[in-house]
Amino acid sequence: MTSRVLVTGGAGFLGSHLCEKLLAAGKDVLCVDNFYTGRKQNIAHLMGNPYFEVMRHDVTFPLYVEVDEIYNLACPASPVHYQFDPVQTTKTSVHGAINMLGLARRLKARILQASTSEVYGDPEVHPQPEAYWGKVNPIGIRSCYDEGKRCAETLFFDYWRQHQLEIKVVRIFNTYGPRMHPNDGRVVSNFIVQALNGQDITIYGDGQQTRSFCYVDDLIDVMVKMMDSPSDFTGPVNIGNPGEFTMLELAEKVIKLTKSKSKLIFEPLPSDDPKQRQPNIELAKQQLDWEPKVQLDDGLQQTISYFRKVLAA
Ligand code: NAD
Ligand code: UDP
Repeated sequence: MTSRVLVTGGAGFLGSHLCEKLLAAGKDVLCVDNFYTGRKQNIAHLMGNPYFEVMRHDVTFPLYVEVDEIYNLACPASPVHYQFDPVQTTKTSVHGAINMLGLARRLKARILQASTSEVYGDPEVHPQPEAYWGKVNPIGIRSCYDEGKRCAETLFFDYWRQHQLEIKVVRIFNTYGPRMHPNDGRVVSNFIVQALNGQDITIYGDGQQTRSFCYVDDLIDVMVKMMDSPSDFTGPVNIGNPGEFTMLELAEKVIKLTKSKSKLIFEPLPSDDPKQRQPNIELAKQQLDWEPKVQLDDGLQQTISYFRKVLAA
């Protein structure tokens, strides 16, 4: 029988790519989303598929459906969006996890949590291995997201210990690609949209802070590998591309690839903005036989082509 898969946050950037990949693999996909940051355009091309179904629902409320596997991605991911309604952000991570874990327990379904490199906060260990416990401010403007995601991980591991639930936890590092929202506020979409519109490129702080950027196709590939991995491998496992760049280097690449005449402007660094970030992906390499393939320049080209079409429409 075709296996039925629930994807929460399925109309978002990563969720829409995941739904597409699962449908291509012959799964029956239920996409649940409250369209807070997700958009119908992201999944419009899947609507005609009889194995694809969409349900408008907020995961902070219980959900009663019948499925075999759950990917829990619901949660705004851009700092601008998750800080807009921080109480709802914490509720989405914590109540959302409780509701989805409860559902998984009733159904005896395997469940994967989209956790984040933000669980490491502003890290003092570099690159970050899974064994690092992180340095997170519990009361700052990023805490609704960071602590919400940390609490969700706690809940996943307690359901595993207490109820023997089959859990999978992936810690996703900065991922980019087509279907990011043009007003998403994250750095890759901001820089590309600004460059294509000939606007100033906004560098926060001195631009020396670093991030490691993973192209969406690589990320979705390993997320599915993780779900399909042996049940004794729970994670947490870092997934991302270890190629590390300063924000100034990223801006220069975007300007070069778009042939833009945009100038750089410097704006204040938001509080608690991590200074450096790079995943140690040895565990993913060993356990999942995976490593990212797409170089930053190639992924940026794909993303730039996407935004050119979106901005021209
Ligand atoms: P996104 O904002 O595009 O997608 C999030 C989706 O969740 C949206 O469709 C949104 O409408 C939906 N959503 C939000 N609150 C909800 C709620 N209460 N009920 C139902 N749906 C809700 O972001 P994304 O980049 O696709 O991120 C997806 C997941 O991956 C998130 O959990 C995020 O924390 C995690 N993640 C992403 C990255 C990244 O770089 N993209 C990095 C680390 C972790
Ligand atoms: N950033 C920037 N200009 C922007 C948007 C973001 O310089 O227009 C910086 C931001 O301060 C951070 C980095 O880019 O240091 C990555 O930010 P993003 O919001 O994409 O993700 P996160 O901080 O959650 O990793």
